[in-house]
Amino acid sequence: MFRVIECIVGEHDLRLVLLAALVWLLGSAALFFLLKRSIDCVEERRRQWLAVAALAAGVGVWATHFIAMLAYDGSMPLRFDPAMTTLSVGLAVLGFWLSFLVAGRGFGMTASLAAGMVAALGVAAMHFTGMAAIEAPASVRYDVPAIASAIAVNAVCFFLAFAAFGRLTGASRIALPTLLAVLGVVALHFTSMSATMLVPDPARGLAEAGSGHGWLVTAIVVAALSLIGFVLAGAFLDRMLTDLRGFAEATLEGIAILSGGRIVEANAQLAKLLGVSADDLVGTDPTIWLAPGDGRPLAEAREEPAEALVTGLDGETRIVEVAAHAVEYRGRQCQVLAVRDLTARKRAELQVEHLATHDALTGLPNRTRFTAMLDTLMRSGEAFALLALDLDRFKAVNDLFGHTAGDAILCRVAALLRDAVAERDLVARIGGDEFLILQRGIAGEEDAQQLVRRILADFARELDITRDPMAVGVSIGVALYPADADDPAALRHNADVALYRAKERGRGMACFFDLEMDRVVRERRELEHDLRHAIARRQLSLMFQPLVATAGGRIVGYEALLRWAHPTRGSVPPETFVPIAEDVGAIIPIGEWVLREACAAAMQWPEDISIAVNVSAVQFQLPNLAAIVEDALDCSGLDPSRLELEVTESVMLRDRAGALATLHRLKALGVRIVMDDFGTGYSSLSNLQAFPFDKIKIDRSFVSHVTDDQSARSIIRAIVALGKSLDLPVVAEGVETEEQRRMVLEEGCPQAQGFLFGSPAEAVVGVPGLLRVVGR
Ligand code: C2E
Ligand code: CA
Ligand code: CA
Repeated sequence: MFRVIECIVGEHDLRLVLLAALVWLLGSAALFFLLKRSIDCVEERRRQWLAVAALAAGVGVWATHFIAMLAYDGSMPLRFDPAMTTLSVGLAVLGFWLSFLVAGRGFGMTASLAAGMVAALGVAAMHFTGMAAIEAPASVRYDVPAIASAIAVNAVCFFLAFAAFGRLTGASRIALPTLLAVLGVVALHFTSMSATMLVPDPARGLAEAGSGHGWLVTAIVVAALSLIGFVLAGAFLDRMLTDLRGFAEATLEGIAILSGGRIVEANAQLAKLLGVSADDLVGTDPTIWLAPGDGRPLAEAREEPAEALVTGLDGETRIVEVAAHAVEYRGRQCQVLAVRDLTARKRAELQVEHLATHDALTGLPNRTRFTAMLDTLMRSGEAFALLALDLDRFKAVNDLFGHTAGDAILCRVAALLRDAVAERDLVARIGGDEFLILQRGIAGEEDAQQLVRRILADFARELDITRDPMAVGVSIGVALYPADADDPAALRHNADVALYRAKERGRGMACFFDLEMDRVVRERRELEHDLRHAIARRQLSLMFQPLVATAGGRIVGYEALLRWAHPTRGSVPPETFVPIAEDVGAIIPIGEWVLREACAAAMQWPEDISIAVNVSAVQFQLPNLAAIVEDALDCSGLDPSRLELEVTESVMLRDRAGALATLHRLKALGVRIVMDDFGTGYSSLSNLQAFPFDKIKIDRSFVSHVTDDQSARSIIRAIVALGKSLDLPVVAEGVETEEQRRMVLEEGCPQAQGFLFGSPAEAVVGVPGLLRVVGR
């Protein structure tokens, strides 16, 4: 030890020794700085950084060695061989490069030990090659054990330096290894210098004068400068990459860069989104701020961005979209998180979805949502009731008080229904005045009955027609799942069937679906279907019933009565199928067929015999009814005066003006118009006055009671009086007995019709059959 100190103090220029130490301080600092830089880089980039680090360290340690050599104040002038000198630099660089490779990324204990030894050997190789480059009139002798221990000390220092580097963090990660490396190299250099003796040897001549220190000084200065250059370049590059931050700030998205699961960078947008400052974010685990909805790790690369809820420190909850990508940032393998605020878009989407699934007026779910809910509920298997509701009088309120009042009523009804049901139930508006309710989790029919009673009671209380002219009532049809149907369409259908039945029974009623109802509805559907093909299948025919002069019984005409011979049901009465044909519109072609057939049949009869044809109110909705009648007359050649059209008061109900116009057009053809079934409908004087009818037919219900019911007789008398005042002959229908004939004759009916005179019968060419019936 003493020898070493004496060597440094006695034989060296101390200023240069300090300079040498300073250069290596710089060199080893650069070494560990660059090593740190390399550590978390992608592999290719790491190797580049390691090469730079090896170069810096090798050049640094070499410069140190030569400055120290120049500091040597020995008794002999020293010169150096350029080739060997250059080789020594190369060995130093190589030694460090190999040691880095040995250390690997981890700098584990064993790896550090091996790396320390490799580095020490590299430095030693540099040292002794450098010594061999000395050109002096002396030969060099070494104290081998001392030198071996110097190399060992150096190896230990490098081992500790690498191990410390592998374990420490922050500034000490550079500082401590740097000091250890300086210690190791200084120890090696001066220990081996003191263990080296230059024995004067005149045989070894000096190289020619002039090859002095000049080039060496230049080389060392260049080496030292380039060393500083390396460090500066590294720092500069680092700075350059850091400046990429400007880009991150320029985007609209929040961006965070993660390394080792922590945020190393965050832009201002992200900080704003989270309601904190960017500095608060750096160093934190991003999962405390953002939890992806898909449950997968935040930084995992995804095909689709994940959605996450963010509750910022400002207390606001936002919906964000998070995408993660692997990037190389500042040469490191990192993840970048791009966070986009979806709150506004989500709100808009929710609004659009709400609009698409809700009724704009009442805010209730609409048909779309209801259908989806019904499907889901059925899949769940839970028992529930489906209530179909239809408002009574709503059309009248809307027509009478206007649409604004109608809208207000609908909103009141919506609120009332919402209040009547339980929280989990669903009320939907699916049409103008149609509502549906899904009553969930029912134990049995009783639960649905309770709800129905509650709704009817609420309507009676809140919308009392006696106090509020704008009030409406409600009819309810109920079908239960799973009792009444097991698929959504059938359940809807059954609730509608029940509703239809409720409406049939009158206003403000509720009906529960049952199988009998279903049978009736099915039958009706079948009839509807069959009716449409009845003409083409030649199932329709006409019967004719005589119309006679009450007094003498002379036939004045016949009424055509429609018959339907159904292939499986047999003869279906017109009272059953005519209303259905009217409902589905089939009465239009059927009515036209009757007209043409009746006219053609009448052409076979004596010219003083008329033909009466029943015309449905639905046919009056045709704008061309008069044209059809005219065509039937033309085609058959029947004189218009022989045709009577029987209409009921219901023609005046819907489009009174249009109906009157058609009636006038028909009358203008020369056809007679008869008011049929008078006394059963509105029996309104104004209807009789509105149009110059040719005849009134008293409904057969009055005639059948004329002998036993005084009021029936009074009605007949009143109608006859009414007819007289309007100068209209009155016909009595349904005369079955002689007594009835006598009475209606007494009351003043000039014409009569009924089984007494003849039942409806098939037409026979030349009408002898009919005349035979009449002949009694
Ligand atoms: P309506 O126009 O009042 O026809 C008279 C109905 O009374 C006929 O029944 C007839 O058979 C029946 N009738 C006649 N005399 C008596 C009697 O003494 N006692 C009783 N109890 N009934 C008698 P039908 O043929 O079953 O026709 C029923 C209804 O069907 C008709 O009533 C009419 O409204 C409608 N209808 C029949 N044919 C047609 C048609 O071609 N077109 C239209 N639109 N409706 C028709
Ligand atoms: Ca009739
Ligand atoms: Ca009638």
